[in-house]
Amino acid sequence: MAYVIGAACVDVMDRSCVDDCPVDCIYEGARKLYIHPEECIDCGACARSCPVDAISWDRDIDPDGPDAPHIGDAEVFFYHPLPGRPAPLREPGGASTLGPVGADTALVAAIPRATAAAGGAAASTAGTTAAGARAEERR
Ligand code: SF4
Ligand code: SF4
Repeated sequence: MAYVIGAACVDVMDRSCVDDCPVDCIYEGARKLYIHPEECIDCGACARSCPVDAISWDRDIDPDGPDAPHIGDAEVFFYHPLPGRPAPLREPGGASTLGPVGADTALVAAIPRATAAAGGAAASTAGTTAAGARAEERR
């Protein structure tokens, strides 16, 4: 079990989550970031820092919702060869060591850019609202 990054990250990629991950297990694709399902320690820090609420614990994701395909997609990102790579990434030893991968899974690559941007903008608005609410709660 692990945390999973959903579609709201596509074409947003502000990397707030990367800075907050204590085990360096959030890897950068071309249009989205991916959490390594074997390296994630389920601390939840990334979910709290994402401005567009793109990150969820996999058990909390609605199996019929839009982020459900992204649960298995993290496995695809790490354990299947990505476009332009002869072998899977497997356990690369840390996102900062590996650097940006520059490729995405077929699921993410197929998301239309305009739709992703609109979804990201909508999600960004929702995330901003949520962040504002959290800030209000802390006052
Ligand atoms: S839940 Fe914790 S360990 Fe897992 S990706 Fe997020 S910050 Fe990293
Ligand atoms: S904080 Fe959210 S939008 Fe930013 S890179 Fe991480 S998952 Fe993507």
